[in-house]
Amino acid sequence: MKGEDWNPRGVEDEEFSAALHQRTEELYRIPNAETDDEGLITCAVLTMRDLVVFPRMVSPIFITPGPTLLAIQEAQDAGTTVIALTQRDPDIDDPQPDDYLPVGVEMAVGRLLSMPDGNSSALVQGRRRVEVVDFIQREPFYIIRARPIEESPDVDRQTDALMRTARDLFERCVQLDRSLPDEAHLFSINISEPGWLADMIATAISLPFKERQALLLTADPQDRLKRVNWLLAQELDVLQLEDEIQTRVQSEVDRSQREFYLREQMKAIQTELGEGDIWGREITELRAKVEQTALPVEARSAAMKEIERLAQMPPLAPEVGIIRTYLDWILELPWELSTPDNLDVRHAACILDQYHYGLGRAKDRILEYIAVRSLNPKKSRQPILCFVGPPGTGKTSLGRSIAEALGRKFVRLSLGGVRDEAEIRGHRRTYIGAMPGRILQTMKRAGTVNPLFMLDEIDKLGVDFRGDPAAALLEVLDPEQNFAFSDHYLELAYDLSRVMFITTANALGTIPAALLDRMEVIEFPGYIEEEKVEIAHRFLIPRQIEESGLADAEIQIMDSALKRLIREYTYEAGVRNLEREIGRMCRKVARMKSEKRRYPTRLGPNLIEKYLGPPQFFDTEAERQDEVGVATAVAWTENGGEIMPIEVLILEGKGNLQITGQIGDVMQESAQAALSYLKSRADQLGIQSESFERLDVHIHVPEGAIPKDGPSAGITMATALISAFTDRKVYKDVGMTGEITLRGRVLPIGGVREKVLSAHRAGLKRVILPERNLKDLVDVPKKVRTDLKIIPVNHMDQVIEVALYPAPFVEEKRHLRQRKSADKKVEKEKEEKEKEKVSPN
Ligand code: ADP
Repeated sequence: MKGEDWNPRGVEDEEFSAALHQRTEELYRIPNAETDDEGLITCAVLTMRDLVVFPRMVSPIFITPGPTLLAIQEAQDAGTTVIALTQRDPDIDDPQPDDYLPVGVEMAVGRLLSMPDGNSSALVQGRRRVEVVDFIQREPFYIIRARPIEESPDVDRQTDALMRTARDLFERCVQLDRSLPDEAHLFSINISEPGWLADMIATAISLPFKERQALLLTADPQDRLKRVNWLLAQELDVLQLEDEIQTRVQSEVDRSQREFYLREQMKAIQTELGEGDIWGREITELRAKVEQTALPVEARSAAMKEIERLAQMPPLAPEVGIIRTYLDWILELPWELSTPDNLDVRHAACILDQYHYGLGRAKDRILEYIAVRSLNPKKSRQPILCFVGPPGTGKTSLGRSIAEALGRKFVRLSLGGVRDEAEIRGHRRTYIGAMPGRILQTMKRAGTVNPLFMLDEIDKLGVDFRGDPAAALLEVLDPEQNFAFSDHYLELAYDLSRVMFITTANALGTIPAALLDRMEVIEFPGYIEEEKVEIAHRFLIPRQIEESGLADAEIQIMDSALKRLIREYTYEAGVRNLEREIGRMCRKVARMKSEKRRYPTRLGPNLIEKYLGPPQFFDTEAERQDEVGVATAVAWTENGGEIMPIEVLILEGKGNLQITGQIGDVMQESAQAALSYLKSRADQLGIQSESFERLDVHIHVPEGAIPKDGPSAGITMATALISAFTDRKVYKDVGMTGEITLRGRVLPIGGVREKVLSAHRAGLKRVILPERNLKDLVDVPKKVRTDLKIIPVNHMDQVIEVALYPAPFVEEKRHLRQRKSADKKVEKEKEEKEKEKVSPN
């Protein structure tokens, strides 16, 4: 027989509870078995497999057909009670007397009710504990004799305390345990007997079978109460823990329910306001937009997929914003729209000339490019052009004009300081705030698939631990790959093959080799003064006059004034600062005009200082003198060329070499080489070799200019060194560049045009160049070639001949030196005498 725990919750239905009441009444009417002379009762056994029913408790039980059913039927016929005996082990099917607990409960069994499954059920009510004495019948069911266990209803102080504790603990359990009805606690208050209270609580709370058995066996009421209290405390612990977990879970659930509720409310409000299902409408609109936009198949299906995801989400879900931004990107990037190319070479030539003076080579190359395109439109694999030159030499503005000539959109992206591959290629969408890389951002700005895309400052690209941006750029520029450029954010192949890329750089040296390989370099060497004046008259002045709001031809800047601006206010290879200074001049005049003051219409050189303040650069050449130990290098820097005086000083010391100023490793090495050469030639140059041991050499390269090519200062350092050791002056009007070997050979260097132009700009008269660099002079303007005398050299001996004052006769020199040391001796003696005078002792 299997049974269920007492569970008052099962009694809910009114009709059912009335029937139950009636059945309970009947139960109560059944009397206890009478004791015989020995004080024993004789009853049939009701076998309990896994159920313990305590005295006075009412429970339903379920009975399967068999001996137990027979026993009950017979007891009911006789109107007597039975004894419930619980098996020690519920798994035993045919229990023998020893398989039962030695203590059972006499109980009344109510009417049997047949159940649909063929079993029966009945209500039972425990009466009292009994102790088994012996089994007197075995077939067809057990009958035993048993001794009822009397319990004292008395309550002493200790028992009272135990009872209170039990009630308190039980009350708290009832509060926490949802399966216990509130009345259960009330019921416990009304029980006055300690044993009964213990049994009642044991019935109510959930206990393991073993615990119930143990409680049944504990005959002493006080002991039973103690045990129950201990069990209650444990149960309470578990319940409290459960409650905490429950509360936490509940608050989570509450929050999401609250959000759900608010969203539903918002929907209701929107409907009420006639705004209908905005979300639904938005999704529909998005779908329509994707359908109407010209997109490649892949992009369209990606967009649709995202929209379907969106449709599944409530409008305020956090991912909504992310998906919408992604969709916006897909929709706003140009996928198909292109501008038709104007490949008319003459038209292009007109436009390039219209906005730019000079730049013949660059213009020619571009016209060739356009011509090839027009003859063979399919040939898309033309090399990427790379414009290299100092700032302000018209690289960007020429690019703009090319775009105009071709009828393409023009966009620029500066790569200066880009160190992270993700800046080029974007971040994956899983990053918060992810965006496509700069390439696609710029394409979005262009709005067409075939803009002229200028990548500025490709020589300033950085590399660090976050990946190599140059590798990503390679993919951008490589026609083999760029038809399917991959951006981490977009995750769709994007076709860059119709873009015309032009890169710009100030210097070639720092461009990653792999990139440089794919590009055709066009140099923008910088302008000479006459060209600058021309550019100013034709383009810069008219533009600045217009920008400052003055009328055309209202003011005129005289050539002499422009030259002053160029020489004393700007010092550059390009014309950027010149344009700025012209702008400043124009604004001064504009202000006077708007203040209704008289203003000059012809601006001469004197007005410049008045308007722009004192000059910032001085005519360096005029200031300098022929000197010992100072030679002029012409160096190549990012800003074009610059002249750079290199100074050498020799001091008493121990033969050390010290180099200070703007120098890198390469320059340090070439200083060493120059010194070694000098030592090896000491004899021929008339230098005493001991002097290298007792003198320190100090070479100084001035700050300011940062030369890009270290070794080219070699011959200049050697010249300054020789000058210092031989006392021969260096001509101030000679500039020089060239690498020196230990044996004094002069090797070719780079950046010749910029260097020659800078020498010209600085007003030098002669430039010493390695002979093998002569070929680089072809692009130098004629004017410069006639103004400057270029002296090609192969060996340091030639340099010395050109740059240094002639050597005095060796005899003469020796005499000079002897006189010097004699003078020194006299001087020393004088000093010592003076000292003696001061300190008479
Ligand atoms: P870069 O890109 O080489 O640094 P920009 O193209 O920005 O230089 O040129 C700076 C300014 O100088 C622009 O206003 C440009 O129009 C003007 N400029 C430079 N070279 C020329 C030229 N050859 N003819 C006309 N204007 C020029």
